[in-house]
Amino acid sequence: MTDGKLLSFVKSFTQLLEKNPSEEIIFTKGKVLLENLISVDDWLPEEFTKPHPQYYQQYLLYADPFDRFSVVSFVWAPGQKTPVHNHTVWGMVGQLRGEEKGTPYHEQPDGSYKPGTPIISYPGHVDTVSPNTHDIHEVANNHTDQISISIHVYGANIGKVQRLVYDPASGLEKGFISGYANKLVPNLWATP
Ligand code: FE
Repeated sequence: MTDGKLLSFVKSFTQLLEKNPSEEIIFTKGKVLLENLISVDDWLPEEFTKPHPQYYQQYLLYADPFDRFSVVSFVWAPGQKTPVHNHTVWGMVGQLRGEEKGTPYHEQPDGSYKPGTPIISYPGHVDTVSPNTHDIHEVANNHTDQISISIHVYGANIGKVQRLVYDPASGLEKGFISGYANKLVPNLWATP
């Protein structure tokens, strides 16, 4: 039996990280692996596609036992968006279904944060974040009438990471730990 797409991605990504790659390599070779995973929307189990009426959902699909990376399905009901937030580790956002609008925020001399040019992600597109270059953003479902789903890969077990949300006008920061919506992860050996 051949490996399913998610298992195949996890294996290839683990092999890539075993070489201790630079962020540049992760954002090139690793990005291609994620592009392959999201190129056809036929593998994400239904349990990890369910929106919540109030909150965007973060379902853990896989976490490396050494916290070197994690794979998360983000599910957005129509109109949902994140606060302005950071990640503290490298991240890649692969659009699987629908459209998302990502807006980078830049710190100003007075401590406030101003939005940069938004990017619309279409299925198959991979966006990146990094504390070295562009770590603070806001993400929104670009649809007001349908669900959007993206597959995120981060350089840590992102649900455990202490991070910050920002009030852009005042620059005020607040700590948060995102956790995950699910208690059970998919069986990689039974996922198409
Ligand atoms: Fe983010």
